[in-house]
Formats: sequence, C-alpha cells, structure tokens
Amino acid sequence: MFPLSTGIAFVAGLGLGVLAVLWLVYERRDLRQASGRRPSAHHCVRCDAVYGAPGTAGSMPCPRCGHPNPALRF
Ligand SMILES: [Zn+2]
Repeated sequence: MFPLSTGIAFVAGLGLGVLAVLWLVYERRDLRQASGRRPSAHHCVRCDAVYGAPGTAGSMPCPRCGHPNPALRF
C-alpha cells in the first residue's frame, strides 16, 4: 500500500497528462483549420454588404454588386 500523498500525486499527474493530450489535439486541429479551411469575412466598400466566403482567398466578389473586396483581418 502506498501513502495517500503518492496517490494524490499520481491522480494529479494523470489529470495533467490528460489535459496535455487534449491541448495538443486541439492545437493541431486549429493549425490545420488555419491553413485554408477557415471561412473569411468580407465587407463591400461599394454597397456596404458584409458577407462570408469559404477559404482564405485574398479577394472575393460581393454577392450583391460584384465588386471584389479583400478579406477582413481581425
Ligand atoms: Zn457590394
């Protein structure tokens, strides 16, 4: 039988290990999404429309007037 403090340290270490694995999984997922699959937001300077587009294309035509607008940066 091991002392109680050893058991507490084991459970705390196990919890930290699970959190580290989850952090790595979600960090890798975010990096993959940032490489082209995240939708972009655009604001038309001609007709003041705000619209979204799939991907991170540099310029997308406005669905209302057709004027090309660059993606918004936050
Ligand atoms: Zn427009």
